[in-house]
Amino acid sequence: MSVMEQPVAMSAPAARRSRQARVVWGDRVVTVGGDAPVRVQSMTNTDTVDAIGTAIQVKELARAGSEMVRITVNTPEAAAAVPYIREQLDRMGENVPLVGDFHYNGHRLLTEYPDCAKALSKYRINPGNVGKGDKRDRQFGQMIEAAVRYDKAVRIGVNWGSLDQELLASLMDENSRRAAPWDARQVMYEALITSAIDSAKRAEEMGLDGNQIILSCKVSGVQDLIAVYRALSQRCDYALHLGLTEAGMGTKGIVASTAALSVLMQEGIGDTIRVSLTPMPGEARTQEVVVASEILQSLGLRMFVPSVTACPGCGRTTSTTFQELAKQIDDFLRLQMPVWRGRYPGVEKMKVAVMGCIVNGPGESKHADIGISLPGTGEAPAAPVFIDGEKAMTLRGEGIAQEFQQVVESYIARRFGGADAA
Ligand code: SF4
Repeated sequence: MSVMEQPVAMSAPAARRSRQARVVWGDRVVTVGGDAPVRVQSMTNTDTVDAIGTAIQVKELARAGSEMVRITVNTPEAAAAVPYIREQLDRMGENVPLVGDFHYNGHRLLTEYPDCAKALSKYRINPGNVGKGDKRDRQFGQMIEAAVRYDKAVRIGVNWGSLDQELLASLMDENSRRAAPWDARQVMYEALITSAIDSAKRAEEMGLDGNQIILSCKVSGVQDLIAVYRALSQRCDYALHLGLTEAGMGTKGIVASTAALSVLMQEGIGDTIRVSLTPMPGEARTQEVVVASEILQSLGLRMFVPSVTACPGCGRTTSTTFQELAKQIDDFLRLQMPVWRGRYPGVEKMKVAVMGCIVNGPGESKHADIGISLPGTGEAPAAPVFIDGEKAMTLRGEGIAQEFQQVVESYIARRFGGADAA
């Protein structure tokens, strides 16, 4: 007899509670925070002085799904190049907002290069790299003035690698006077959060609308990031940008970022994300955008491309046919999405299954919108295809991959093509 008395509670990310900022370029308005979807961001790794090269990479990142792209603005030459990068993008029909990343000299660059200040849609200010002593407030103020003058959003981005050392020293002193001093790590957390919130409050006192402020406190450890953002989200309602800084290369960077961001977003913390991957040699910069989108899609927060469920394979399938087919279908769906997004509304929610044998193949395929169960070792050389939970056909022979791709394409046209789907 069943002991179940109540249904198992459904799992879903908690609601977010932040204010909403607007990052604008021309007609393009990217809302961040509040009830807006969690946004995907990325950053170029080109020399900003190379305006054409940077514009091309920005466009690639935007096409991959980055809704804002940050560029380094570190020298007068880079600041002078920013309006040309913007112009190139506009000419290419790419209106993704650009974010300027400033350290040390942002106050001068934003003041002396007004066209740069105007061409950017958001300024990233690191309070740890604004200046020291009495210069700090003045230089921070100059950057906020530019944001107010040109009506731009600001991200106050604290990073533990460049934390305000004066603030940290003063919190360490304060801690040493406690009857039960905190762990040094907890003092560092406090310094990160205090630096971000105090800077945001100063910016508001200087006239910047609090809704135009986004905060981040980036660290490189998963548990550190979770601890800091949980506390940060309790202590303010500014929109929050999430990211594990210096996440690393390949699998390590992807897993660490996914672990940290998933825990936080499940708790309703985080309004924009960046996955800071070190590209593998020869790897496209767009990989970080693909990973960020996959994290959001896996959590059910947003849908970007149809998902392909594929089994891992085992001793029941000794050929690579199903691996190749899964990859082929995945590549095909991603490649088509820029066109399909406009033509087939809702196609991004579709689920495709590519399975390796009879054990889980038919069952998993029935759960998907469309699925194929390939023959395992020793099974009859036939691949049943399931559409909307029903067996629709059986494919055989050498051309299974090609035929299945055509079946998927005509299913999409029929189901998502509306009036055009004749
Ligand atoms: S579906 Fe078949 S081939 Fe795939 S993992 Fe399961 S048992 Fe192995």
